Amino acid sequence: MNSEFYEGARPAGPLATFDGAKTRVQHPYHDGIALVGDAAANDPYGGQGLGMTWRDVRGLRDQWLATENWEDAGHAYAAEHDRHARATHLGNPWYTRLYLETGPDADARRQRALPLVAQNPTRQPDTIFSGPDVPLDEEVRRRFFAED
Ligand SMILES: Cc1cc2nc3c(=O)[nH]c(=O)nc-3n(C[C@H](O)[C@H](O)[C@H](O)COP(=O)(O)OP(=O)(O)OC[C@H]3O[C@@H](n4cnc5c(N)ncnc54)[C@H](O)[C@@H]3O)c2cc1C
Repeated sequence: MNSEFYEGARPAGPLATFDGAKTRVQHPYHDGIALVGDAAANDPYGGQGLGMTWRDVRGLRDQWLATENWEDAGHAYAAEHDRHARATHLGNPWYTRLYLETGPDADARRQRALPLVAQNPTRQPDTIFSGPDVPLDEEVRRRFFAED
C-alpha cells in the first residue's frame, strides 16, 4: 500500500463500535432456558456465526424431538454445544496465529507452512467451511504449522 494515498487524510468520526470479544457460555441450558446462537457462543472469526446459530437450533430441535423429557433434552443440547464450541474455540486461534500474527517469527512460520498448504490443502483443518466436526488434535495442529 502506498502511504502517499493517505497523506492529508483526516479521521471522520466518531464511529460506532461493538464488543467483538470472543465469548462462550458453559453449558447453555438451565431451568427451562436454552441459549442459542450468539447468546450461547460468539467467535467473530471467519463468518461462522450463522452456521453455529443454525447448528444450535437444529441440535436443540433434535433433542426435543428425541424425548418427552425437555429437561434431559436441554442438558443434552448443552453438552453437545459445549463439545462443538470447544472445538471452534480451539481451532480458530490456529488460523489467527498462522494468517494474522505479525513479526519475524510469524513471517517465518508462514514461509514454512503456506507452501506446504498450497501443495496439499488437507494440511489446513477445514473448520471454517466444514464446521467443528473435523479432527482437531496436536497432530493436526503440527501438520498445519509444518512442524511435522
Ligand atoms: C459486522 C458483522 C458481520 C458478520 N458477518 C458474518 C458472516 O459473514 N457470516 C456469518 O455466518 N456470521 C456473521 N456475523 C455473525 C452473525 O451475524 C451472528 O452470529 C448471528 O446473527 C447470530 O444470530 P442470533 O440469532 O444468535 O443473534 P442476532 O442475529 O443478534 O438476533 C438476536 C435478535 O434478538 C433481538 N433482541 C435482542 N434483545 C431483545 C429483547 N429484549 N426482546 C426482543 N428481541 C430482542 C435483536 O434485535 C435481534 O434481532 C456477523 C456479525 C457482525 C456483527
